[in-house]
Amino acid sequence: MTRYVVVGGGIVGLATAHELTRRHPHATVTVLEKEDHVAAHQTGHNSGVIHAGVYYKPGSLKARLCRAGSASMVEFCETHGIPYQICGKLIVATDESELPRLHALHERALANELPVRLVTPAEAREYEPHIASVAGLHVASTGIVDYAHVCRVLAELVEKAGGTVRLGARVVALQPDGDAIVVRTTTGEHRADYLVNCAGLHSDRIARMAGRRPTARIIPFRGEYYELRPSRRDLVRGLIYPVPDPQFPFLGVHLTRMIDGSVHAGPNAVLALAREGYSWGRVRPRDVADVATYPGLWRLARKHLRYGVTEVRRSLSRNLFARSLARLVPELTREDIVRAGAGVRAQAIARDGSLVDDFLIEYGPRQVHVLNAPSPAATSSLEIAKHIATQLHA
Ligand SMILES: Cc1cc2nc3c(=O)[nH]c(=O)nc-3n(C[C@H](O)[C@H](O)[C@H](O)COP(=O)(O)OP(=O)(O)OC[C@H]3O[C@@H](n4cnc5c(N)ncnc54)[C@H](O)[C@@H]3O)c2cc1C
Repeated sequence: MTRYVVVGGGIVGLATAHELTRRHPHATVTVLEKEDHVAAHQTGHNSGVIHAGVYYKPGSLKARLCRAGSASMVEFCETHGIPYQICGKLIVATDESELPRLHALHERALANELPVRLVTPAEAREYEPHIASVAGLHVASTGIVDYAHVCRVLAELVEKAGGTVRLGARVVALQPDGDAIVVRTTTGEHRADYLVNCAGLHSDRIARMAGRRPTARIIPFRGEYYELRPSRRDLVRGLIYPVPDPQFPFLGVHLTRMIDGSVHAGPNAVLALAREGYSWGRVRPRDVADVATYPGLWRLARKHLRYGVTEVRRSLSRNLFARSLARLVPELTREDIVRAGAGVRAQAIARDGSLVDDFLIEYGPRQVHVLNAPSPAATSSLEIAKHIATQLHA
C-alpha cells in the first residue's frame, strides 16, 4: 500500500491530502501538523478573500490556479455548506497618477479572462457609497470565506476517507531509507513512499531536512490588521483595495468585509523577527540569524529601503494607518479603528534579492516541496492540490 505523508495542516497541505485520498483510495495518507489545530498559521490569519486573479501574470501558475481555484473553492463551499459570499471588489484610484497602473491592471484582468469593468467615480459610489476615487476597477467574481472553516471540513473529509490528520506532530528529521523516507516527529516515526512538504513558513527548512537545496529562502513578513468599530461597519459594503504598486507582491492596506460581518483594515507588511512573529515582541534568535545572514534579504532591503521604512512607521502609528485608509474612505478616522491581530506571510526571496513572484513548487525523487505559496494560495489551494497530485507521479 502506497504511503503518502504531507507535512503541514494548512490549507495547501489539507487540500493536497484530500486530493490524494480521492485519487488513491487504497493508499494511506497522513498529514503531520505541529500545532494542536489545523489552519494555525497563514491559513487562519488571512483576509479571507476568494481572489478572482486580477493581478497575476497571464499564464503564470498564480493566474491559472487562482482563476480555476476560485471556481473550485465556491463549488466546494456549496457542496459542504460552508458560508461564502461573492461580494465583488473595487480597486480604487485615488489620484490621477494612479490611472496608468489602474488601466494596466484592467488590461491584465482582461488577459486573464475575468469579469471586470472600469468605472467612473459616480459608478464606483454605487458599489461603495463612501469612497473617494478618480476611477475604479470593479471585479465581479471576488468573494469572501473563512479559510479555517474550509480546512476543518477538508480535515474531516481526509479522515472519513481513511486518512489521518495527526496534530501536535512536529517533523524534526527526514531520512532516506531505500525507496522510502523516514519522517521523524515529536510524537513518533512515519514511513513515506511519497513526501509532500506544505510547511508554509518552514517549508524551506523541511526541504533542507530532505536533502534539497531550495533556490529561495522564506522571509516572514507580518501583516497587521485593524478592525472597524461595529458602529462604522456601514462605511464598507464589500472589498475596497488601492491600486497596488507592481514592484511589491503585497496589495497595500485595504478594507475587507469578512464573512462574519466584521470589517478588517490592512494588512501592512513589515519584516517579522520570528517566522511566527505575530507581534514586535516575538523575537526568535534563530529566525533573526536566518534573515540577517541571507544576502537576498540585504539586496532586497537596499532596493526597497523607503518602502520598508514607511511600512514600519505605519505599523507603529495608528494615525498613519488611519490616514492610508482615509485615502480610500475619507470619513474614516483613527477613532474608528481598533487593533485586530496579525498574520505572517511566508514570502520566498531569491539570493539575488528578488521576491519570488509565482508559486514555487520543487520536485525531487518521490518528494514535492511547496516553497512559495503566498496569496492567492488559499483561493487556489484546491487546484494547487490537483497540480501536486498529478506532478508527484509525472
Ligand atoms: C496576512 C495575510 C493575508 C492573506 N490574505 C489572503 C487572502 O485573502 N486570500 C488568499 O487566497 N490568500 C491569502 N493569504 C495567503 C494564504 O493565507 C496562504 O497562501 C495560505 O494560507 C498558505 O497555506 P499553507 O498551507 O501553504 O501554509 P500555512 O497555512 O502556513 O500552513 C503550514 C502549516 O505547516 C505547519 N508546519 C510547519 N512546520 C512544520 C513541521 N516541522 N512539522 C509539522 N508541521 C509543520 C504549520 O504549523 C502550518 O500549520 C494571506 C496570507 C496572509 C499571511
